[in-house]
Amino acid sequence: MYCKYCGAELLEGQTFCADCGNQVGKLFKEEKPKKAGLDVGMLVWSILGMYFCGAFSIPALVMTILASVGTVEESKIRLNIARRFNTVSMIFGAVMNALVCLYILFYVVFIMMMLGMA
Ligand SMILES: [Zn+2]
Repeated sequence: MYCKYCGAELLEGQTFCADCGNQVGKLFKEEKPKKAGLDVGMLVWSILGMYFCGAFSIPALVMTILASVGTVEESKIRLNIARRFNTVSMIFGAVMNALVCLYILFYVVFIMMMLGMA
């Protein structure tokens, strides 16, 4: 096999001509990174989290969506971030809900005491 650009002899499987530097063979097929696809579980968690626990789930939702368009490796990293945000959001939501419940409880007790006194 000879280079079609300069005529130099080529070795079997050579991709570039050693003489002129032109590409003479096929490049290795670039492995297309696998697309990750949407993690439905994380998406549901993020949306539920946003509904119940607030703002921390927004970055989780964004990361989940970004993870669906990235490669598998990128997706893993993004889903990890999403998971962290969802976890924080869950803890934050639980604390907030507990506080609201306590507040309502105290409020009810307070009203009952006022009514009892009247
Ligand atoms: Zn050549």
